[in-house]
Amino acid sequence: MWDPRLASHVYRDDHPLKPRRLIGVHDTLESLGAFQRANAVVLAPRDATVAELERIHAPEYVRAVRDASADPERDYSRWGMSAHGDTPAFSGMHEASLLTTGATLRGMEEVLAGRLRASFNGAGGLHHAMRRRASGFCIYNDPAIACGLLADRGLKVAYVDIDAHHGDGVQAAFYETDQVLTISLHETGRALFPGTGFASERGTGKGAGYSVNVALPPYTDDRAYTTAFDAVVPPLVQRFKPDVLVSQQGIDSHFTDPLTHLQVSTRAREHVVHAFRSFDLPWVAMGGGGYDLDAVARGWSIEYLVMLGAPVPEHLHDADPPAWTGDERDAIDVATDVAVRDALAAAFT
Ligand SMILES: [Zn+2]
Repeated sequence: MWDPRLASHVYRDDHPLKPRRLIGVHDTLESLGAFQRANAVVLAPRDATVAELERIHAPEYVRAVRDASADPERDYSRWGMSAHGDTPAFSGMHEASLLTTGATLRGMEEVLAGRLRASFNGAGGLHHAMRRRASGFCIYNDPAIACGLLADRGLKVAYVDIDAHHGDGVQAAFYETDQVLTISLHETGRALFPGTGFASERGTGKGAGYSVNVALPPYTDDRAYTTAFDAVVPPLVQRFKPDVLVSQQGIDSHFTDPLTHLQVSTRAREHVVHAFRSFDLPWVAMGGGGYDLDAVARGWSIEYLVMLGAPVPEHLHDADPPAWTGDERDAIDVATDVAVRDALAAAFT
């Protein structure tokens, strides 16, 4: 999904989420001829409708975002927005967010219709937004809206979130249902925003066991990360037998990311996105966090090429990914083993 308007808004001059990072992804892929490949197509987004937003968000919240968009100077703190906080109100934020959300939904529609096997909206993946509150740079929760609309069609949805932060907003939206399985692999809430995402958060009622959290230790490297992913995600997706895969591919787990402490490289990410592809499901993919602009450009370019089944040029990869040895190796492996064991013990059977 592409439109330069997806990359043109500015949260605040000093804000870490820079939508212009997507220009680096687009230009990298264009220079590689990715969009000229026979199975690639670049589609323009549409605006989401208010009815679509209200699948997840309270009407009063949508009205508040509209007001903030038109008049950002007023106080919107009760809706999770503040001038110097994580999620500032800014002029045009409602319109920018409608397009961001609509890009995910337009891709979803193409996938549902069988015209595309997979869609990717790098602007989306805004997984922290809550029903009545903006949070963590996220205004409208496009992954939750997509999962909800898919569930409304009677489809079983596997949502897998590989952002460094817990996918709390998506988890909250589907905490009581077994129709959407949410799996989030993230840096533990003991060390990182939003402070949630422990294995004990497993869903309630019919949803018990259908919220799965793998809370990884800070400094988890490729070896530990891929071991954890392989132990949890493919087995649970196979057990769940979904009709569709929705992936949030925030790339702030990268070892150079300035906001997080995971030590994941493009190698582990390529492995994970290959696994997504191997599920052989209709697939709605989106971006998410990512605050080192070079890592974002290379990482999502690699992931888009993997989605296409195209070769990945070696120069896009990290030259020298971090890898622990000795006592640190043992400590990371023990802690990730515990995270995996706890996640699997809490999951549906
Ligand atoms: Zn994140």
